[in-house]
Amino acid sequence: MLLRHTTKEVRERNALTVNPAKTCQPVGAMYAALGVHGCLPHSHGSQGCCSYHRSALTRHYKEPVMAATSSFTEGSSVFGGQANLLQAIETIFAVYEPEIIAVHSTCLSETIGDDLNQIVIKARDEGKVPFGKYVVQAATPSYVGSHVTGYANMLEAFVKYFAEKTDEKRRQINLLSGWVEPADMRELKRIMKVMKIKSVLLPDTSDVLDTPMTGKFEMYPKGGTTIAEMVSMGDSMQSLGLGEWATEKAAISLDNTCRVPFEITDIPVGIKATDRFIQALAKAGRVSIPEQISEERGRLIDVITDMHQYLYGKRVAVYGDPDNIIPLIEFLVDMDMQPVYIVSGTPGKHFESRMAEILSERVPEAKYKNGPQADMFLMHQWIKENPVDLLIGNTYGKYVARDENIPFVRMGFPIIDRIGHSYFSTLGYMGGLRIVEKILSVLMDKQDATCLEEKFELVM
Ligand code: SF4
Repeated sequence: MLLRHTTKEVRERNALTVNPAKTCQPVGAMYAALGVHGCLPHSHGSQGCCSYHRSALTRHYKEPVMAATSSFTEGSSVFGGQANLLQAIETIFAVYEPEIIAVHSTCLSETIGDDLNQIVIKARDEGKVPFGKYVVQAATPSYVGSHVTGYANMLEAFVKYFAEKTDEKRRQINLLSGWVEPADMRELKRIMKVMKIKSVLLPDTSDVLDTPMTGKFEMYPKGGTTIAEMVSMGDSMQSLGLGEWATEKAAISLDNTCRVPFEITDIPVGIKATDRFIQALAKAGRVSIPEQISEERGRLIDVITDMHQYLYGKRVAVYGDPDNIIPLIEFLVDMDMQPVYIVSGTPGKHFESRMAEILSERVPEAKYKNGPQADMFLMHQWIKENPVDLLIGNTYGKYVARDENIPFVRMGFPIIDRIGHSYFSTLGYMGGLRIVEKILSVLMDKQDATCLEEKFELVM
């Protein structure tokens, strides 16, 4: 019993968070920056913060994650880190030769009050930024929001800095990706290709954090959104943001600065969210939906229908990031499963209303909460009160799954004890098949392991 001290009784808590269902802002800023070609993320704070952010990403993606740090010492912690950052910018361009440095702040530099914008302007004025190279910056204080907030802030910083409006309208759309895996970004690009829609995907971590072994180290792998692509986003016909939490700020910024209208839709997880995504794409790209996409949808529906008996009525607990779990919960309900406990450590006022919209009629007993006190401890307490058949979330759920003997599907960030998440997409109809397969496998494995001998079936 690893979590033997978790009690059934739930008490109101105002300040304490136990086992948070989130991580810190700069991790998200770093991930977004890695999805831009030739970009080196830079953490303006202590070495410890940068090491943590890099290792969180390295452990999840099983790839080396490059990032620089301002390496605060006692002096910079008291007097500010301007001198460190100015020196860092000069050294990084001279030694590591990135196209862009993407600077994000940390708790420490925010508390001191370092003004990143002013420091970056000073670096430019002093000639520390070579011609044709860029420094982008985003404030990511980790005592508010979560890694999703950091991702959203860095995404906004990129479009604000690079997108330019000219007189030439382009027949392309901007696809602002929420926090998804490199395989998911690859899947989004495949769908765009099938639908014959020209697009700019930002960020794009495919071919950055899922690179093949070639025997040669590439500091800046071939993937990532290019500077030219980001500049062209100001002339696109429309922006489509995947996930309100991660992309709305960037979409609004593009609208404000370049008059590119936008629509926010859910990350395409499951049937309904993918339907909405495909329809939004068809409308934005002014194309009809190809037969291939309809066939993929049909295959997913067919598998769900075939295996419905194993899914029907199963009680599920889910935790993760709002943009990812909202469509997932909708998908579970569509499969006649019962998502009864849902927590997300990321704050945001629309979470509860979206959950109510999806669950109030079909799963009226569902409990859901987001924000700092919506932690893994609370979810475990709910499970102790009334058990579930399935747990879905990142690696940290394995303690609850083991203690309560619950089949466990790993989805979300971070997954640090299994592989596959970076390589097999869970987006679109094809990704929906993968989710169904993962869920069925763990449910059937438990049935095989625990059923009576006379109920042990060869064909399932
Ligand atoms: S101090 Fe703040 S920025 Fe640094 S690792 Fe901790 S939460 Fe993240």
